[in-house]
Amino acid sequence: MSTAVFASRERSVIGAVNKSLYIGGAWRPASNSRTLPVYDPATNAVLCEVADATPTDGLAALDAAVRVQRDWAAHPPRERGEILRRGYELMMRRQSDLALLMTLEMGKPLAESEAEIAYAAEFFRWFAEEAVRIDGGYSTAPNGTGRLLVMRQPVGPAILITPWNFPAAMGARKIGPAVAAGCSMVLKPAAQTPLSMLALAEILAEAGLPDGVLNVITTSDSSGVIAPIIADGRARKLSFTGSTEVGRVLLKQCADKVLRTSMELGGNAPFLVFEDADLDAAVDGALTAKMRNIGEACTAANRFYVQRPIAEQFAQLFTERMAKLPIGRGTEAGVVVGPLINAAAVDKVQELVVDAKQHGAQVLTGGKAIAGKGHFYPPTVLFDVNASTRMAREEIFGPVAPITIFDTEDEAITAANNTEFGLVSYVYTTDLQRCLRVCERLEAGMIGLNQGTVSNPAAPFGGIKESGLGREGGRTGIDEYLETKYVAVALP
Ligand code: NAP
Repeated sequence: MSTAVFASRERSVIGAVNKSLYIGGAWRPASNSRTLPVYDPATNAVLCEVADATPTDGLAALDAAVRVQRDWAAHPPRERGEILRRGYELMMRRQSDLALLMTLEMGKPLAESEAEIAYAAEFFRWFAEEAVRIDGGYSTAPNGTGRLLVMRQPVGPAILITPWNFPAAMGARKIGPAVAAGCSMVLKPAAQTPLSMLALAEILAEAGLPDGVLNVITTSDSSGVIAPIIADGRARKLSFTGSTEVGRVLLKQCADKVLRTSMELGGNAPFLVFEDADLDAAVDGALTAKMRNIGEACTAANRFYVQRPIAEQFAQLFTERMAKLPIGRGTEAGVVVGPLINAAAVDKVQELVVDAKQHGAQVLTGGKAIAGKGHFYPPTVLFDVNASTRMAREEIFGPVAPITIFDTEDEAITAANNTEFGLVSYVYTTDLQRCLRVCERLEAGMIGLNQGTVSNPAAPFGGIKESGLGREGGRTGIDEYLETKYVAVALP
């Protein structure tokens, strides 16, 4: 592993981040003084070291969150909203530096990092507006002799766990509603990408978030640090974004303390193109749905189903565009395809491609990992992929697009739904009745109808089936952090 020589701006954004644990408003080293390395996936060089929290540090973070919960819940909603609004403004003011930091630790091209910072900041703006709209109810009991008073209160201290693929947005999508609702937090980012969240913690402190409301712990021992926090019982909520596999483990742990949970888990998105689709729009949408975040998104199109009369033409147009996408370190101008997160991710993608080839798929472009420094895999299109391939069932999490031909609408919908996942689906058709018919039958929490992205802070993001529980963002996003309390009022 080499120690890289970084350009001075890169050195300066990394140098500006506090790399300690953020507990109770103070930055402190891990109790055993250990650190863990953060790598640049484009070069495999070590960017820096951050504190490596122990289980004791995790419990200290929980103590800090518990200590402030009562006062924080009593904080005026308007002030909670204004903290978020200032957070939004500070993020946008520093968008360029935050984006560079994200590209360095995660690999995505700078333009995508900038878009993610704006998307993340929008959650603060959205929930700044929601903080003052928490309502309740007052009604007359049906028999007329009593009153029903309903109040909504913060759930309590929340554990927030985020993945490496969207290092800022997945955290902001949880912190925004938690702050708005009046919950204190212990947040654990992925060990691979801790820097964006550490930077965000500093921004929120600057925006006026009281000490102890947000505590951030970085660790190489996720299970060892999180399990005791859940088992402690004082945290009342867990919000997790990550794989279904880990989500299941956490749900079991939460069951013991009956914690409220929000689970944003894996996906296996189908992308359906019907013969009456606007073909150019479908190709544009396919590129977005597949290549956003280098294919490393839970919302990434994982299976393309194209109706027979247009299948070859779609494949040709899509392949031409995929083959031309510039590959390189995300910091370089014009790069669209950055590195995958690590060597294991490249190996997994390669395995899935080999498996598809063995099952008869034709490689139209790409299909082989790029040798050399960093973890690069080229945009790949596979044609005539059948349902027995592993990639029909598993998340690819890379820039590989398998195309399968279908004949009838019913066949396409059945194939699309033939998965335990249900996060998002994409549909391209210009027939209004088909739009509605297909959307009603698709088993997914979200549908991109003639568009290749669904993410929007104002919309309820989340999945059904094994893709998760609950919704983030939108009007209902704050509900995940609120309890409903009913008071039976005697009034003869
Ligand atoms: P992951 O391996 O499940 O990890 C997610 C987070 O959980 C990381 O912070 C990880 O920390 C932590 N973690 C792992 N094992 C844990 C345990 N036993 N106890 C407590 N925490 C634990 O997922 P990933 O590889 O980072 O992210 C990719 C996955 O996230 C994909 O499946 C993707 O579809 C999903 N995702 C879903 C959404 C959505 O909104 N539905 C959005 C983005 C991503 P360490 O990595 O440091 O161990």
